[in-house]
Amino acid sequence: MRLNQFPPADGFVSNLLGIVNDYPTCDPVDLLGTVADTLAESPDPNVRASHVLALYSTSFWAAYRLRDQAVYDSLIAAMALADETMDTCEEDHPGIAALDDLERIVRWIPAIEDPEVATAAGLAGRDEIALFSCPAWLRTMAQEAMRVLLAERPTEFGMPDFSFLTPAYVADGTLDVIALTVNADSFPEDPPSQVASLWAAQRLLGDVPRRELLPLTAAVCSSLVRQDATAPPAVPTHLREVLDRVAADSACAHGERHDAEPDAWIAGVQYLYKPMHFDDDKPVDEALWHCPGQRAAMIRTALRLSAPLER
Ligand SMILES: [Zn+2]
Ligand SMILES: [Zn+2]
Repeated sequence: MRLNQFPPADGFVSNLLGIVNDYPTCDPVDLLGTVADTLAESPDPNVRASHVLALYSTSFWAAYRLRDQAVYDSLIAAMALADETMDTCEEDHPGIAALDDLERIVRWIPAIEDPEVATAAGLAGRDEIALFSCPAWLRTMAQEAMRVLLAERPTEFGMPDFSFLTPAYVADGTLDVIALTVNADSFPEDPPSQVASLWAAQRLLGDVPRRELLPLTAAVCSSLVRQDATAPPAVPTHLREVLDRVAADSACAHGERHDAEPDAWIAGVQYLYKPMHFDDDKPVDEALWHCPGQRAAMIRTALRLSAPLER
């Protein structure tokens, strides 16, 4: 049996292959939009896995060809949401799959949906199927697709609306400060951290509860000062624009005592919002940190440290 006979008549797979090869056999905008919507809505792990593979393998085409802003952003949203909501995995899967063979990744999709047929056809081993069904592996692919799409997002689109991430950070009306700050602080050069801080920045512009002001500000400021030359330029630019808009002069009696040391910001906020403390935690002065002067000091410092170099 020839490998490429499997699956011979699957329209979804052949349409995806058309996009991957830059020779679409269907309306690619329609198809990708539907895949993004399905991924965002379906709780079925197999559907989510196959749709992450579909969007990952087509993300390079989308980055360079797709010029429908709403659909482009729905792809970023679906990948960000998948990254936020998929499980972690403790298993040690044998083997590693190449992420650059896009056609092969597309051909994996039916193997996820029907492992028996795939193994019977000799296309996929069980180890390989386990790897491509692994949530941690799929999150890596979602992050990579997000990176590609964010980096190439046409500047005329402006910045996407990241409110689609709200369910990942706000439950029953309460901001999960620890989840947000851990994410924003993780690897600032990576899309999950950038997207978390962009979400925090856009939330700051709205009518947010007072208790969110400090953690949102800390997430944005900390991420901004840690962006380097590899960040899509739109990310630091947008973070700076938001901070400019929310910056407020704050005259308080604490003066220089407000912490202008970026390394202390996330740790300070996490101390304040942690449900319990341990003996080796470094306590912070709560009155000082909850004073609006602290937010003003962080914003001032972040804007100064991230200012574009004069030419
Ligand atoms: Zn796994
Ligand atoms: Zn103060």
